[in-house]
Amino acid sequence: SNLGSKPQSKRWDHLLSPEALSRHPSSVKSAAKYLSQPGLISLGGGLPSSNYFPFSQLTISVPPKGGPFADPSPTPHTTVTAGKNDQANGTSLADIATLFQYGQGTGSAQLLRWITEHTELVHDPPYADWGCTTTIGATSSLDMALRMFTQRGDMILGEEWTFASAVETAAPMGVRIVPIPMDAQGLLPVELDRVLAGWDERARGARKPRVLYTVPTGQNPTGATQLPTRRREVYRVCQKHDVYIFEDDPYYYLQMDGYVPGMAATEEAKPSHESFLASLIPSFLRIDTDGRVLRMDSFSKVLTPGARIGWVTASAQIIERYKLHADVSTQGASGISQLVLFKLLEDHWGHGGFVDWLIYLRKEYEGRRRTMMAACEALLPREVVSWTVPDAGMFLWLKIDHTKHPGAGEKSIAELEEEVFLGTIRHGALVMRGSLFQADRDSPLGALFFRTTFAAASEENIREAIRRFGEAIREVFGLEV
Ligand code: PLP
Ligand code: PMP
Repeated sequence: SNLGSKPQSKRWDHLLSPEALSRHPSSVKSAAKYLSQPGLISLGGGLPSSNYFPFSQLTISVPPKGGPFADPSPTPHTTVTAGKNDQANGTSLADIATLFQYGQGTGSAQLLRWITEHTELVHDPPYADWGCTTTIGATSSLDMALRMFTQRGDMILGEEWTFASAVETAAPMGVRIVPIPMDAQGLLPVELDRVLAGWDERARGARKPRVLYTVPTGQNPTGATQLPTRRREVYRVCQKHDVYIFEDDPYYYLQMDGYVPGMAATEEAKPSHESFLASLIPSFLRIDTDGRVLRMDSFSKVLTPGARIGWVTASAQIIERYKLHADVSTQGASGISQLVLFKLLEDHWGHGGFVDWLIYLRKEYEGRRRTMMAACEALLPREVVSWTVPDAGMFLWLKIDHTKHPGAGEKSIAELEEEVFLGTIRHGALVMRGSLFQADRDSPLGALFFRTTFAAASEENIREAIRRFGEAIREVFGLEV
């Protein structure tokens, strides 16, 4: 990329909350800048000496670079070790003495550098002053972003069916989500424009929304993925109404090849790193010429949720606000987690090795989705259940035609949902009720949906659970078994 030719981001002072605007550098963290002076003896920060960290070595067993990755795999896992003073010894850029110590809210410089390089490789944002900061996962990123851009009484825009935690993060802040209608590709730009253009502050009881919260890839719960044209249209509507975008994209790397019913697994040659990366749909960040996107990435779905590490990418102004908040709240991700990820991602796999892992994951998820789709085609009553095959992520969103229920006139959709849900549990399977994912929980349930996932169960159990779900639906709807 040619940094010189990229524009600077816009400023967002007019959208930031009083809380975000009034943050000042943490006094404690600010002292750290003097430590780079050669020969300086610090009697400043209250940092415990690493001599008193009762950890001298960290050893992890991980798949070999390039795979095979399967566990158990024919190739033994490799051991990777971090010592206490590897930096001083010159054996690694990171060690226990440094990463187990206090750090900055941005996370360790070492891991942040890897993350920033990775972001440039995958998204190459089209403005000059972008940056990343390490986070403790997307859940926290959204929490912090809402505090940065909203105030009590605000409404933000979102998919009409959306991630339940997002609704529940916003609600206690006094922030509600305006549901935007969706189709098989998710958010509809025409509807987004219509809601914004016709905004009536008095009727809505809130000022015109300044933020869109969107999950563009393998959306939770619908599995919908916005194609490139859709993303450009949504971006243009946000520019038109000066709306800032929260891009929550934990399923970005779980983009799969097209599904063909009845097609067996193919033994294709492994794609090159370049062709894998080129096959990924451009993110909002990649088309963000204004710097109006706060992109939230997460290692949860591609490495491990328990690490509690993710990252955000945005313009320098927003990254600075985020860092100032992190300095006085999370203080960044756990140093123990950061060292584990750094040893795997930088010292062992490198950028290419991580891409190999992502290629492996894609294939695994394609196999699981194939099992799920074949089970649905064979075992669900098609006269009442319908779906769109997801192109990304881990969710399948199943629509049940409630009008086909013999007592449809007398029973509410919520009552039917309860019957199918409890019936499914009685038959020995758990699916998630669609109503949990309503962006606006105060409005009555307008359709009957259930969310299933092919991420968790074994392929054999996926098929069995769908069979049980089918039995429960047939029972509730009085269909022949
Ligand atoms: N955002 C969405 C849309 C999700 O579906 C999830 C988890 O399923 C998260 C955020 C949480 O991610 P993290 O583990 O990074 O907090
Ligand atoms: N708990 C937490 C804290 C999460 O972040 C997630 C993932 N979003 C889950 C549970 C699983 O939630 P879901 O069933 O929506 O994937």
